[in-house]
Amino acid sequence: MGIHGLATAYFLAKEHGMNNVAVIERRYVGFGGSGRNTAIVRANQRTQGNVRLYDEGLKLWATLIRDLDFNMMFYNCGNLNTFHSEGALGAARLAVSTAQMSGVRSELLDRKQCKELIPELNIEDNIKFPILGGMYHPPGGIVRHDAVAWGLAKGAARHGVHIHQKTEVTGIDIEHGKITGIRTNRGIMKSPRVLICAGGWGALLAQMAGIELPLHPLTIQAMVTQPLKPVLHHVISSGAYHVYANQTLKGEIATGAHMDPWPNYTTNTTPHYFKHQAEALVELLPFLRGVKFMRHWAGIADMTPDMAPILHGNDPIEGLYLDVGWGYFGFKSGPITGKYMAQYIADAKRPEILKPFSLRRFEEFRHTGETAGAFSYGPWN
Ligand SMILES: Cc1cc2nc3c(=O)[nH]c(=O)nc-3n(C[C@H](O)[C@H](O)[C@H](O)COP(=O)(O)OP(=O)(O)OC[C@H]3O[C@@H](n4cnc5c(N)ncnc54)[C@H](O)[C@@H]3O)c2cc1C
Repeated sequence: MGIHGLATAYFLAKEHGMNNVAVIERRYVGFGGSGRNTAIVRANQRTQGNVRLYDEGLKLWATLIRDLDFNMMFYNCGNLNTFHSEGALGAARLAVSTAQMSGVRSELLDRKQCKELIPELNIEDNIKFPILGGMYHPPGGIVRHDAVAWGLAKGAARHGVHIHQKTEVTGIDIEHGKITGIRTNRGIMKSPRVLICAGGWGALLAQMAGIELPLHPLTIQAMVTQPLKPVLHHVISSGAYHVYANQTLKGEIATGAHMDPWPNYTTNTTPHYFKHQAEALVELLPFLRGVKFMRHWAGIADMTPDMAPILHGNDPIEGLYLDVGWGYFGFKSGPITGKYMAQYIADAKRPEILKPFSLRRFEEFRHTGETAGAFSYGPWN
């Protein structure tokens, strides 16, 4: 499993004294989105329920790094999201107010202030989408993704969790509405509780239990440039250009944003994406003209209709829990969700903070408003 499974297992063992937890992974630790993401963390989401969870998530990194004694390279360099239309600026005002009301640092900047923050930014009018302003979120930044996966795996194993790599779940056993165990390509495992947290493959696992989830598996692509001297000191993203970028501690510019708009399970990259990223980046950050891309890759994101996750349990099957639907937000939320899912599984009582994310919201027409944020000022990690 990825960081959601590893974090839940770690907290089950560490905070709830469970010494018989198993993590089942078809390939290897970090094979899914957990080892492929662009490592951006932030807490300035659109709706209050989301802001609360992500804010706790952002604050958890420092404690986790200390507790696991593992350097996850947390770099809280701040995130700037640029806006290129009056409509997007209006939506940003709402997001900033939501964050501020929740005690999260977020502020609106005019285009001159954006330039003061990131001197390399092009704020001229002669580009396709001139910048009108930005939303600055100082506590966000980046955390090294594979360090998080391995730090959690090591921590979980130290607390007695069994991690089974190269083991594929092939079936979920249910008797009289209760979970009794799972089947794998290496044998049967009995258990009264099963958590599905399989990233882009979550819907396929849920189908094994007879549950159809409202999830679309979508391919996201990303890439890095050759290393440069330190020049970009913040994460920058633009909804209109559909691009985001940050400079890693190695000096590479890591960039992404494009999400293939049709459901699929491939992890291919495409020339269309390279061209799009290159064009968008040189308009926003002209110093990147002529810089070479070094590596490109893709992963699968499990997107719900309201772009918020499904954190659900014991309904309609006793003992079956779901932690799926993270789309392109599931890295920053991994450890904190694991902490609360562990509490949920241990007590069989849904923690207050997870209540907005019930699976039932889709049939009760109580969608979260997160999609409004994404479509008004554009998707950004
Ligand atoms: C290119 C890209 C950029 C992204 N950027 C960001 C970002 O900047 N910030 C952010 O917060 N999020 C980002 N994301 C999203 C984030 O990576 C995911 O939401 C997150 O990693 C999901 O973690 P997970 O633990 O739920 O699932 P995963 O890490 O995907 O792990 C699921 C695991 O389940 C295993 N599995 C599947 N089927 C089975 C089976 N039948 N049996 C056993 N094991 C199985 C898979 O092998 C996989 O290892 C990005 C994603 C991509 C692809």
